[in-house]
Amino acid sequence: MKRSKKTDELCIGLDEIGDSGYHLSCRKSKSFVTDSLHELKNIDCSFEEDVGIELDFFKTGTTVLIRGGIATTMQLRCVRCLEGFTLPLAATFNYNLCPEKEGDLPAEMEIPKEAFDAYYYSGTVIDLTPLIVEQIVLHIPAYPLCQDSCKGICQGCGADLNRAPCHCGKEEGAVSPFAALKDFSPRQKT
Ligand SMILES: [Zn+2]
Ligand SMILES: [Zn+2]
Repeated sequence: MKRSKKTDELCIGLDEIGDSGYHLSCRKSKSFVTDSLHELKNIDCSFEEDVGIELDFFKTGTTVLIRGGIATTMQLRCVRCLEGFTLPLAATFNYNLCPEKEGDLPAEMEIPKEAFDAYYYSGTVIDLTPLIVEQIVLHIPAYPLCQDSCKGICQGCGADLNRAPCHCGKEEGAVSPFAALKDFSPRQKT
């Protein structure tokens, strides 16, 4: 029999992870992801399509290893030319989840914290939403550019220089009407 559809497929019960692990394959709607991003990280980001999620879960003792990836397409705005553009997001990752209240962590988990992403779960259910949100946040460029070579907008006339060169540049070598101001500086008070 097919497993009945859970109300939230991003909540995985520990008991669902058997000896051979557990595989999660689902899509979350872009509105769900947009809302979660806003709720958890106060970040507004739009998506062109739903977020595909493929994850494998393995249990060793009380530690749960999650590995897999997510994929979607982000809608961003270029900081140079202000045009909207899309950027594919494909993230693969590993997480080790430890139970939240277990006193001391095993020694091997204490030191190399940056060697892997350690996370905690509480109770018997793992909510994947914060992990998915974090992965998306990590992949949102801080300085989105439609292309590395984006020429941006002319400071002089506001033309999108990716579409056509503007005429301001032509006067660069010529004497600008403001050239006289270049060496002008207010008289210093002495
Ligand atoms: Zn651009
Ligand atoms: Zn111009």
